[in-house]
Formats: sequence, C-alpha cells, structure tokens
Amino acid sequence: MARIFLLLAIVLGILWWLRDRAGTRHHAEPKSPPRRTAAEGEGTEPMVQCAHCGVHLPRGDAIAWHGLHYCRRSHLPEMPGEGDHGARS
Ligand SMILES: [Zn+2]
Repeated sequence: MARIFLLLAIVLGILWWLRDRAGTRHHAEPKSPPRRTAAEGEGTEPMVQCAHCGVHLPRGDAIAWHGLHYCRRSHLPEMPGEGDHGARS
C-alpha cells in the first residue's frame, strides 16, 4: 500500500516539475504585440459590391441607388416609367 503512495508522489512530483518547466518556458517567450485591426470608418472606407457586375469598390466611389451600389452610371438599372435614356448629370 505504501508503495502505491510513493509511486503517486513520484508521478505527481514529475508532473509538477514538468508543469513548472513549461510555465517558465512559456513565461520566457516574447509576447506578440496585439495586432492592429483595420479600423473601419477611420481613414479606410468600407468596400461595397456593384449590384450589376459584382466588382468591389470603396463606398465613396460607388453610386448608391435604391439601397444598392453600382460602380458606374451605366450599371444602374433603367427606371421603368422614366423614358429618357440620356445620361443626366
Ligand atoms: Zn458594375
């Protein structure tokens, strides 16, 4: 019976020692600096997708139309009812 306790004590001692070693090694590792995430709305514009051709472009360059974004005027859907096809600027 005493042998089992001795064995247990040795095993626990080894585990403790391994944990201590691992702990010190981990402590010695240089901590990586926190990665700076791309700040949205701070200098960088959010990208939007053209509803016609699917190209991605900054929202500032896109043409918003009925909740959708388009990369150019020619990609805007033609309004039904408004007959004039001329490009109004
Ligand atoms: Zn487009």
